[in-house]
Amino acid sequence: AAKNNGGNQSRFFARNMHKASQLRYRLIADLRQALPAGQLRLYYQPIVELVDGGIRKAEALLRWSHPQRGLLPPAEFIGLAEEIGLINQIGDWVFTEAAAQARRWGELLGGSFQVSVNKSPAQFAAHAQRLSWAAHLRQQGQAGNSVSVEFMEGVLTNVSEAAGDELASLHQAGIELAVDHFGAGASSIATLKKFDVDYLKIDRSFLHDMAADAGKQTILETMIAMAHRLGLRVIAEGVETAKQRDWLREAGADYAQGFLFSEPVPAEQFSALLGGGQARH
Ligand code: C2E
Ligand code: MG
Ligand code: MG
Repeated sequence: AAKNNGGNQSRFFARNMHKASQLRYRLIADLRQALPAGQLRLYYQPIVELVDGGIRKAEALLRWSHPQRGLLPPAEFIGLAEEIGLINQIGDWVFTEAAAQARRWGELLGGSFQVSVNKSPAQFAAHAQRLSWAAHLRQQGQAGNSVSVEFMEGVLTNVSEAAGDELASLHQAGIELAVDHFGAGASSIATLKKFDVDYLKIDRSFLHDMAADAGKQTILETMIAMAHRLGLRVIAEGVETAKQRDWLREAGADYAQGFLFSEPVPAEQFSALLGGGQARH
């Protein structure tokens, strides 16, 4: 009976495996269609200046409007896009779309407005035939600093020659650089300085439980002070409560981003936030 049961179990297991790989192939096929079929969307989350609460920037966050499964967050498909070699095509689309939006909002505000895009480590690998982001902005006659690029600190600690060249060329074009999820990895102060980083985005894990954890508060204060001494500005991520916001302002952080201000929203909704008088130069 035991043997029989084992046989059933492995058949059950094999069936599930088969089902999982079918789903995966389906998703891969769908993902290859997503860009040409116009299913990718950018959502925008405000980045607020802490001294006065005004919206100063936005982060572009990718969504996939899947015909059957609805709106999917990046965690559901970015990894897959990297695996099947689609990430650079998608990343170039994200960049041109975000840059165009930054330009529109700059015009709306009668000045300039910065939108940041995320670039994953796979997008720093050497590849032929990629759109030059710097050249694209030049062709549009658009200021480099209307866009900033967010990347994980691992790009700096494990820097390849291709990644170093890429960072230098972005910086040269005036595109600002932000280290995302800072504090979650192990970048050294020296590498931040070496690559001319403009912003530290402090990982939201530092805000979590902060009130109850004096150690975390000390680390945060030290990170903010260190960033400022290096000439970097600080963006705190994942700000969800007024208490966190007030603490950060007191501690001298420059910007904040999080559900307290707004979740990521489509461009039209973001325009309404800007039009609501929340943005000032
Ligand atoms: P990230 O760059 O750190 O983006 C911030 C994430 O935190 C977003 O998740 C945002 O919705 C979420 N968030 C914002 N405020 C709060 C808050 O107050 N509380 C909490 N709990 N979460 C908050 P999302 O949009 O699901 O993106 C996840 C990650 O996917 C991003 O992390 C980024 O690393 C990656 N990603 C997003 N868009 C792109 C893209 O266009 N290209 C690439 N390569 N990666 C992307
Ligand atoms: Mg980011
Ligand atoms: Mg982030």
